[in-house]
Amino acid sequence: MITRKLLATIASTPTSDGAGVKLRRSLGGQGGHRLDPFLMLDEFGTDNPDDYIAGFPPHPHRGFETVTYMIDGHMRHEDHLGNVGELTEGGVQWMTAGRGIIHSEMPQQQEGRMRGFQLWINLPAAEKMTAPRYRDIPASDIPVAEIAGGTVKVIAGLLEPGSIAGPITGCTTDPVFLDLRLAADAVFEHPLPAAHNAFVYTYEGSAVTGPEQEEVSIVAQSAAVLGEGELVRLRATEDYARIIVLAGKPIGEPVVQYGPFVMNTRHEIEQAIADYQAGTLAGEARAS
Ligand code: FE
Repeated sequence: MITRKLLATIASTPTSDGAGVKLRRSLGGQGGHRLDPFLMLDEFGTDNPDDYIAGFPPHPHRGFETVTYMIDGHMRHEDHLGNVGELTEGGVQWMTAGRGIIHSEMPQQQEGRMRGFQLWINLPAAEKMTAPRYRDIPASDIPVAEIAGGTVKVIAGLLEPGSIAGPITGCTTDPVFLDLRLAADAVFEHPLPAAHNAFVYTYEGSAVTGPEQEEVSIVAQSAAVLGEGELVRLRATEDYARIIVLAGKPIGEPVVQYGPFVMNTRHEIEQAIADYQAGTLAGEARAS
């Protein structure tokens, strides 16, 4: 079994989105780097309410999926279909925007820590115009496995042995989304589908990756893109590390993005903008 090696690092840069929410963007940031099928990864994390209190007022999406993983804090999602969902500590919201959704994501706290990730996963052309759907997964529905020297939360994909499955299934991109906590020197070695693109992101502590004889340090708060192989191997090097592991089947289609619309052609982007302006993004009149 070949262990994947570090191929490239996509550094995160501080930015803001929504109504001024401060975050760090690696994939999808200034350098324009993506890793098919992943379009964007934002890490938000602050104890200062001024950095998050204005939230993300109503905005559209078309053509991909958004995954929000709350580690600390509480946000409320509301959309034009009438869905209301609470994103609470340790929970995940998996939203398939498909042909269109207009939603808001607003903090439900006046103070305290808000921390988590938002990941954008592309959809293939055949699914970009599907009906939007939305899944709220509370922390209690996400399996946590004990491993030697750590724990693994299985948000999507399979954890072996024992084949613990994450609650997210049925995606064409077959995503793997794990959240690891490793004690100092603990090693996580795990198969990932060989055809998947994969990256890891250390959000606390420090870690190395690669085969045992060729370990390379991972830059914290950056996307560490892994090369070809069958295994991911990670080892915490200081007190501990917290790392997310992401892998997905590449789509291999052209990507044309205009903000929250991600399609295959310029023409489809123009159509998305026209539909949004006409109030028919989701194929029906938008509730005012
Ligand atoms: Fe959004």
